[in-house]
Amino acid sequence: MHILITGANRGIGRALADHYRQAGHEVTATARRPSEGELALDVTDPASCAALAARLGGRAVDLLICNAGVYLDKGQALAEGYAAQMWADTFATNVTGVFLTVQAFLPHLRAGKGAKIAIISSQMASHTRAPGGSYIYRASKAAALNLGRNLASDLAGDGIAVGIYHPGWVRTEMGGDSAEISVEEATSGLVARFAALDLASTGCFQTWDGRDHPY
Ligand code: NDP
Repeated sequence: MHILITGANRGIGRALADHYRQAGHEVTATARRPSEGELALDVTDPASCAALAARLGGRAVDLLICNAGVYLDKGQALAEGYAAQMWADTFATNVTGVFLTVQAFLPHLRAGKGAKIAIISSQMASHTRAPGGSYIYRASKAAALNLGRNLASDLAGDGIAVGIYHPGWVRTEMGGDSAEISVEEATSGLVARFAALDLASTGCFQTWDGRDHPY
């Protein structure tokens, strides 16, 4: 299986890349500032997406994992205000970035048989979870969830399944040291979810440990 992962230089993306490599799969690990073993991909930049798509040529991608994300308003109080630029920067990565990535690699996904797209959103995307705060991140992840479900409708005809996932509250730079689970736990759960994704479950919104999450 050939797997392309965005934001694979650290955190969940890197752990997924390590897992799939160790399992013997071909992994295209990407990063906006690549180091050894990674290819360049800034998901906010259409030229960067196009350059990597051209570099892959006619190679099929069996699983595209849209993992890159930012949480710029973490801990921001409503009274402090939410800058317009922070909205723009967050949406550029968490929403537009997902769409640009899917769009760029659609020919490679279509070249595979039964290809899949996994979008790493968050439980914070759900309309059932609105306890206040994190206005930008919540809205961006809700938009990514909507995007994923919309893509699921359009791409079913191509035989491409799309799943949207909450990876758990994970101990990464974003999740922080007091988060509930390790990247290894998140990864083994997510890998099982991606394996189970098919056209019957396309458009699903699931947690890392296999529960359907309310939209
Ligand atoms: P990290 O902050 O550890 O990693 C985020 C990754 O995204 C980094 O590799 C970062 O690269 C990359 N990235 C950010 N912007 C871009 C960009 N424009 N182009 C390419 N890559 C980019 O976060 P996690 O590993 O924890 O998060 C992974 C995903 O899981 C995110 O989508 C996040 O929202 C989601 N998530 C995480 C949770 C958690 O508890 N950790 C909970 C719910 C969802 P760089 O090093 O260049 O910044």
